[in-house]
Amino acid sequence: MTKVHSSSLAPELEKEIRSIVGAKNFFIDKIGITKVLNQRSRSRPIIVDEENRSDFSAVVLPETTAQASGVVRALYDSGVAMVPYGGGTGLMGGVLSLSANVCVSMRKMNKILDVDKVAKTFVVQSGVILGDLEKELNRSSLILGHDPWSRSYATIGGSIASDGVGYLGGRLGSIRNQVLGLEVVLPSGEIIRTKAVEHSSAGIDLKQIFIGSEGTLGLITEATMRAYTYPERTKIIGYRFENFQKGHKAVLALHEKGVCPSSLDLDENRRNITDPREPGDTRLHLVFSGLRGEVDALQKEAQRIISRYAKSRISKTDTDQYWAERHKIADMVLGGGSRRHRTGNGSSFDYLHVSLPANAVSIFRKRCLELAKTYGVEVVNLGLWHGPNMFSSALHADGANCVESRQKLMFILDHLLKYAQTKGGSMEYCHGVGVKLVHLMGSEHGNSLKLMEAIKNTIDPKGLMNPGKVFPRSQPREY
Ligand SMILES: Cc1cc2nc3c(=O)[nH]c(=O)nc-3n(C[C@H](O)[C@H](O)[C@H](O)COP(=O)(O)OP(=O)(O)OC[C@H]3O[C@@H](n4cnc5c(N)ncnc54)[C@H](O)[C@@H]3O)c2cc1C
Repeated sequence: MTKVHSSSLAPELEKEIRSIVGAKNFFIDKIGITKVLNQRSRSRPIIVDEENRSDFSAVVLPETTAQASGVVRALYDSGVAMVPYGGGTGLMGGVLSLSANVCVSMRKMNKILDVDKVAKTFVVQSGVILGDLEKELNRSSLILGHDPWSRSYATIGGSIASDGVGYLGGRLGSIRNQVLGLEVVLPSGEIIRTKAVEHSSAGIDLKQIFIGSEGTLGLITEATMRAYTYPERTKIIGYRFENFQKGHKAVLALHEKGVCPSSLDLDENRRNITDPREPGDTRLHLVFSGLRGEVDALQKEAQRIISRYAKSRISKTDTDQYWAERHKIADMVLGGGSRRHRTGNGSSFDYLHVSLPANAVSIFRKRCLELAKTYGVEVVNLGLWHGPNMFSSALHADGANCVESRQKLMFILDHLLKYAQTKGGSMEYCHGVGVKLVHLMGSEHGNSLKLMEAIKNTIDPKGLMNPGKVFPRSQPREY
C-alpha cells in the first residue's frame, strides 16, 4: 500500500484548520507544540521504546464538538494521520506520533456540562481531568468511581479510550461499566451520539466498540456517565503474610465467600528499590466503602476469613497512610519527578499487568520468578489487584547500557505475556495496547482480530486515525 500522508501540512490545510479553531488553538512550530503538550503534566509514555517515534507536525486544540469535527474532516480529506491526545499519561505509547502525525489535543474540551444528582449521572466533554471532575461531583455528594493513580492528570476521554481501572475497581470494575452514552467524531468528521440510557436492547450497543479502542476508531468528544453515591463510611484494613502464597489463599477465600471489597491490593515486595519494606514482605490492603452497616458487615467477615492466613495486622496509621498516598507515585512521576523507564546507568524498568484465570496465578508467578532468575532480571514486586485475577509485576534489569537492559526486559515480558495468553488470560488488564503490545495482538485474539480489523477498516478506511496502534496492520493507505 502506498503511504499518502505528508510529514508537513499543505498551506491550504493549515489555513483551513486555522479558520476552524483560530490561530490560538493551532501550533505548527516545535516550541509551541512542545509547550502545549507539556502544559498539564510532563507526560510522555514512559514504557515504550521511542525508536520509531517522530515529532508531531502540528497540534490542534478544538474547543467544541463542531470544531473537532471540522478539524478531523479536514485532516481526513487531506490524507493526514492524526492522534487523539488526552492527558498523555498512557503507558503504552497510544499518543506517540509515529510519522509526524497531527495531534488533536482535547485539553480545551474540558467542560463539565451537567451533573444530575437525582439520576446520579453526569455529562462531560472528554478532555476533563478526572481529579477536577471528582471534586465537582463531591459537591453533589457523588463520586466519580474511576480513581486511577494518575487521576490528577488523565482525562475522561483517555480513560474511556483505554478502558482504565482505578482504586475502586474491586466493586465498580473498569470505567466501561459507568459509560452510558458517547459522542464520537468519526474519522470522516461525522458526529455520532450513542443513546445514553441505563439499558437498551434495541440493537448493537455501539458505545462499546469505542471503549478501549485507544483513539483508533474516532475522537470521543463527550460522555454521559453514571456517578456513585458518596460513601457513608470508608474503612481500610491491612494484613501482613509470611509469604505470597498465604496472602493469595486469603484472597481466594474472600472471593469464594463473596466478600467483595471496593479495593483489594495484595503486594509482595521482592526487593528494596523504592520500598522500605523487607524483601519478601507481603501485604494485603482492603478498602470497604459504602453504607455504614454494609461496610461494617463486610469488614467483620473479611477479618474473620483473613485471620486464618495472616501473620499480623497493619496499624491503622499505616493503612490510612496507604490510602491517603495512593496517588503520590503519579504525582512524583507525572508532576515533575523522573518518569523514565530508563533509570540510568544501564538500568531499565518495566511492568506487566495480566488478567489470569484464578487457578493460573500461582503457576504464572512461578514462571515469572524462574524466568527472571534465568535471565538475571529482578522482580521488584508482584501482586494482585481487586481479586484473584488481575496480576501485576514490576521488573528491573541492568545491562552495559539502557538498550541492552531494555532488550532483556522486553524478551522476558513478551515471553510472560504470551504465557498468560496460553493460560487463557489476557496480556493487559487496564492500560491498553498502544504500540507497546501491538505485536502480540494476533496471539491475544486469534481469528477475532480479523473481525476487529474489519470494524477498523469500515470506520477508518484510510487508516488515518491513530495509525500503528492496537491494530498490527494499521497504516495510512491510499483509498
Ligand atoms: C504513574 C501512572 C499511574 C497510572 N495509573 C493507572 C491506573 O491506576 N489505572 C489505569 O487504568 N491507568 C493508569 N495509568 C495509565 C494512564 O494514566 C491511563 O491509561 C489514562 O486513562 C490515560 O488517560 P489520558 O487522558 O492521559 O490518555 P492519553 O495518554 O492522552 O491517551 C491514551 C489513549 O487514548 C487515546 N485517547 C485519548 N483521548 C481520547 C479521546 N478523547 N478520544 C479517543 N481517544 C482518545 C489516545 O490516542 C491514546 O491511544 C497510569 C499512568 C501513569 C503514568
